[in-house]
Amino acid sequence: MNHATRQQAGFVQVRGAREHNLRDVNVDIPRDALVVFTGVSGSGKSSLAFGTLYAEAQRRYLESVAPYARRLIDQAGVPDVDQIDGLPPAVALQQQRGTPTARSSVGTVTQISSSLRMLYSRTGRYPADQPMLYAEDFSPNTPQGACPQCHGLGRIYEVTEQSMVPDPSLTIREKAVAAWPSAWQGQNLRDILTTLGHDIDVPWRDLPQATRDWILFTDETPTVPVYAGFNIAEVKRAIKQQQQPSYMGTFTGARRYVLHTFATSQSAMMKKRVAQFMVGSVCPLCEGKRLKREALAVTFAGYDIGALQQMPLKQLAEVLRPAAQGRGEGGQAQDAAPTRSKQQHQRHIAERVAAGGSAHTAAPDVRRTAHDSQEKVIAAQRLAQALLGKLETLIGLGLGYLALDRATPTLSPGEMQRLRLATQLGSQLFGVVYVLDEPSAGLHPADGEALLSALQRLKAEGNSVFVVEHDIATMRQADWLVDVGPAAGELGGQVLYSGPPAGLAQIENSQTRRYLFDGGRGISRAVREPEAWLRLEQIERNNLQNVAAAFPLGCLTTVTGVSGSGKSSLVTQALLQLVAAHLGSSIDETDDADEHAPSPPVSDEDSRDVAGVPTLPEARASGRIVAGMEQIKRLVQVDQKPIGRTPRSNLATYTGLFDAVRKLFAATPAARKHRYDAGRFSFNVAKGRCETCEGEGFVMVELLFLPSVYSPCPTCHGTRYNADTLAIKWHDLSIADVLGLTVDAACAAFADEPAVLRPLQVLRDIGLGYLRLGQPATELSGGEAQRIKLATELQRAGSQRGSTLYVLDEPTTGLHPSDVDRLLAQLDALVQAGNTVVLVEHDMRVVAASDWVIDMGPGAGDEGGQIVASGTPAEVAKSRASRTAPWLAEALQ
Ligand code: ADP
Ligand code: ADP
Ligand code: ZN
Ligand code: ZN
Repeated sequence: MNHATRQQAGFVQVRGAREHNLRDVNVDIPRDALVVFTGVSGSGKSSLAFGTLYAEAQRRYLESVAPYARRLIDQAGVPDVDQIDGLPPAVALQQQRGTPTARSSVGTVTQISSSLRMLYSRTGRYPADQPMLYAEDFSPNTPQGACPQCHGLGRIYEVTEQSMVPDPSLTIREKAVAAWPSAWQGQNLRDILTTLGHDIDVPWRDLPQATRDWILFTDETPTVPVYAGFNIAEVKRAIKQQQQPSYMGTFTGARRYVLHTFATSQSAMMKKRVAQFMVGSVCPLCEGKRLKREALAVTFAGYDIGALQQMPLKQLAEVLRPAAQGRGEGGQAQDAAPTRSKQQHQRHIAERVAAGGSAHTAAPDVRRTAHDSQEKVIAAQRLAQALLGKLETLIGLGLGYLALDRATPTLSPGEMQRLRLATQLGSQLFGVVYVLDEPSAGLHPADGEALLSALQRLKAEGNSVFVVEHDIATMRQADWLVDVGPAAGELGGQVLYSGPPAGLAQIENSQTRRYLFDGGRGISRAVREPEAWLRLEQIERNNLQNVAAAFPLGCLTTVTGVSGSGKSSLVTQALLQLVAAHLGSSIDETDDADEHAPSPPVSDEDSRDVAGVPTLPEARASGRIVAGMEQIKRLVQVDQKPIGRTPRSNLATYTGLFDAVRKLFAATPAARKHRYDAGRFSFNVAKGRCETCEGEGFVMVELLFLPSVYSPCPTCHGTRYNADTLAIKWHDLSIADVLGLTVDAACAAFADEPAVLRPLQVLRDIGLGYLRLGQPATELSGGEAQRIKLATELQRAGSQRGSTLYVLDEPTTGLHPSDVDRLLAQLDALVQAGNTVVLVEHDMRVVAASDWVIDMGPGAGDEGGQIVASGTPAEVAKSRASRTAPWLAEALQ
């Protein structure tokens, strides 16, 4: 077909795409089809689907709504592409990694909560003496609706002696009152106590209760002279002799300090610090339902609206079903009707007359009609039908175990994406391109069918569906595949194939082809025999109730189960928290320092929304460890979070190999002559770096209406260093040249330098040979970041012997099957070195390759939370009770 005919036939035509690693890509992609973009991690799939197609659609949209923004859009980064024809408007349903900022809930994202409020306002059953309410009266986020005691939070936060004084064996001088400020302000408070005659050198628990209560809970704020460094006797003498005090100090009780700081501080860090001394409990007035009494008095099908917000969507659908079928509210509500007193009935009639309404008015206001009136039943039916439609879509996508009041920050990225997908399904938009990023993430194969039918439904509604995906089942169902490769980074960036799936079988250099057509060969090796076990008992967390679990030490264990069955509750919550508590340490996250940079302040608007506000103390898993801890010295959680948030962090600095490189430069004769030390070759130190960009290589351009963009530094042209530093050469390479090397090239250049070579080799072996040493951390994909973290751990494992517990939550997300093989080899090496690895995983090839499997279920939410089967992969594959078994059996063949 020529250009014109293809366009007519409904193709998006891309010419000369060069975004990131794309190598002048020309490709025609059909519209109104399910198109899957495949290729190894880092090959350029996202650069094509999101970086080029979606970005261009977005740019065109922006331009059409705001032509004056043209110049700004240009600077903000037009995708690097010559031409795109036939591109419809696009909606991206991307997975949000990292911390979501929106304080929203399942109910608000899907807009189901607002429909429910309408249902209650219009068709709810009101107590006889209560006036009808508006929809807003049923929202905890409005002043009209919120519970007056907890202000709509559902929880109240208080402090106790135990929460503010965690270790009563300490003295006040030793900071027993942990809740007080830590720096000089805390010292000030301790000095004031001395002036007030309290002994700050006896253990807290030996102080009289009255004294302890006063120090913690008083609202008095006496101002007294402070003699810094004096003891009680010296202070007494000083006052007697009318000595000049160091200063006058005002006392604040610990409770007053904590609550006041939490309520008024502008700093999120401060809020977070004091929040750890608060204990939350369910609000006694609204019982956690967050609404005022009048709103909770209104019922539908026998439930108040708060109860509906808290129940799993699956159950909510059943509550609404009778009404949606025109059978009224169903349940107890029906038999309540005949008992209505004559008096009430008369009042109803009186109300209708007062409102000027009658059965014959043209547009009856059903809010004022009698409860069982035909009008009301029909209104309820319409509202309930619409709600049920939305609920069934969500349930179909495997989300029936969620509740409306679940805070979205507690959802996994995969759950969040499916939530947004479900919302789109009801939107009746058409002629749009939906661009999705690995929608199968977090989904058990048993739920995969529903996802595919949702994608097919979007297509049937008249849309194009472009999906970046690694899941073989999704590839098989595609109308069209775009395979990008052949490898990653500079070795990728080409479209190897674009056409119906079957045709990929002919493409020799496609990595995808091997897995799509060779039956996804399993990875077989001898299963390790567990010697000792890490045993947990009485685990309580979310849907886990009194669960006992055993993880074999020195083995690779995968935890499986349908979405919502309780895998994360068991592994990334209970196991992590209990082991961390046992080690008396916090969890060793594989992040660098700037991960812990203060987060932006939380506005009042944010902090009052839903439960689970991050600044408030979170409930923890309970349970106990009864065996195996003697073999665990360290706990590491490896995730896909970025390894740094600024371009200052990169592969070379994160892995530590840059330190060794800088030493080599400092040891050259030229450097010695100028007395340049290793610090000179750091772009984070003033001596050697470029002054203009302070070593960033880029300068930030502030834009008026758009996020700021980086542009190359005009002085050093992106090299990050000043001219004197660049003049120093090691084997003909400047320090900037070294940062420009790929890992592969660096392996050759540093072949004789073991300190540099060792970390490089690990990176090369795990398939990251294509990355440049100076590639900013911000430009790495989640999968790349995860592998770099693992590589760093592997190096450590080489130097120190075993005894570490590694926990990973769905590490195959974003990884092509060939990358998964590499990841498995890495994990295997960690286990070989004497460590224990526990994964949450849906990829059955990985499950089949592990030593031990723990399958959760049988279903999701209340229908799950149990260990259905555990054993070797072969044993679990035979379990009758396990929903994972059939898929695992298939992968084991
Ligand atoms: P995929 O989606 O196939 O995993 P990507 O399109 O994300 O691959 O990445 C392709 C290549 O482009 C990788 O080498 C990656 O490191 C690089 N890359 C990704 N994002 C950026 C960026 N913002 N700037 C520069 N390079 C990038
Ligand atoms: P999985 O990891 O198997 O998908 P989870 O452990 O995330 O399952 O969830 C198990 C159950 O616990 C689900 O019903 C889920 O809704 C609930 N749950 C998980 N995390 C939270 C949370 N932070 N707050 C409230 N409920 C939660
Ligand atoms: Zn309340
Ligand atoms: Zn510069």
